[in-house]
Amino acid sequence: MADVYRLGFVGAGNLAESIARGVANSGVLPPSTIRTAHRRPERCAVFESFGVRILETNQQVVDDSDIVILSVKPQVVKEVLLELRPFFSEEKVLVSIAAGIKLHDLQEWSGHRRIIRVMPNTPSAVGEAASVMCLGQMATKLDEERVSCLFKAIGKIWTADEKYFDAITGLSGSGPAYIYIAIEALADGGVAAGLPRELALGLASQTVLGAAAMVNQTGKHPGQLKDAVTSPAGTTIAGIQELEKGAFRSTLMSAVLAATKRCQELS
Ligand code: NAD
Repeated sequence: MADVYRLGFVGAGNLAESIARGVANSGVLPPSTIRTAHRRPERCAVFESFGVRILETNQQVVDDSDIVILSVKPQVVKEVLLELRPFFSEEKVLVSIAAGIKLHDLQEWSGHRRIIRVMPNTPSAVGEAASVMCLGQMATKLDEERVSCLFKAIGKIWTADEKYFDAITGLSGSGPAYIYIAIEALADGGVAAGLPRELALGLASQTVLGAAAMVNQTGKHPGQLKDAVTSPAGTTIAGIQELEKGAFRSTLMSAVLAATKRCQELS
């Protein structure tokens, strides 16, 4: 039998919309079980257009939900949780997607301990998020399973200890930007080699998508896949040698480490 429960969003922004749409479209929950609050009329219309119920206040959303996804900007999380504190009864699960806000603070401000913190990334908008969750003290196995199902509707999700969240931000949080630059640079290379811009950009982004799908779907190590397309004295090894001269691997490693360090400084 389908697991049906009520899902509420406090904060009806971009990420809330991606999750709600993904959950409704994939049939994880019927849209009538999803609710958010009335704030900006244009946002309400978007959510209503795919069947989400619109309530008057954040308090009603918490009251009327089994799982509450807190999807406001990090700057307003404290204020919103202090206001909603009296409404988090024990049977409710609070899920925060606010970047950089730790379980400890979420617990202190909400007075609640059945919490899951999730760090998604921007490809959630196209159903290809890389999300990671960590569980608060009172979160149950069922809570973990439900949240996992919700976020699988917009991509993939892993469970990890909260101590890894700065590194996760440095890798999957900031990673899309590194790859946008790589795609742009590959396209520039194609243009330098004589390709029309539009063709070069299409080939570059599809090549990145294809390579990622090969790693994900074959389960082969990327080194093994690289070796398989690198013939002796061929074209690919000539390109790889240039990447090694430019310290491509070390530069990507340093980018993840620098973003992780910056995340630690900001928290
Ligand atoms: P957003 O600005 O689109 O959405 C925030 C929404 O909260 C807005 O619609 C705003 O009107 C509403 N809001 C503000 N104050 C409110 C209040 N008191 N009560 C109810 N609603 C209120 O932002 P977003 O990109 O959807 O990000 C939401 C959260 O997700 C942020 O905390 C961000 O750190 C986190 N996050 C987003 C992404 C992403 O891919 N967009 C990735 C990782 C983490």
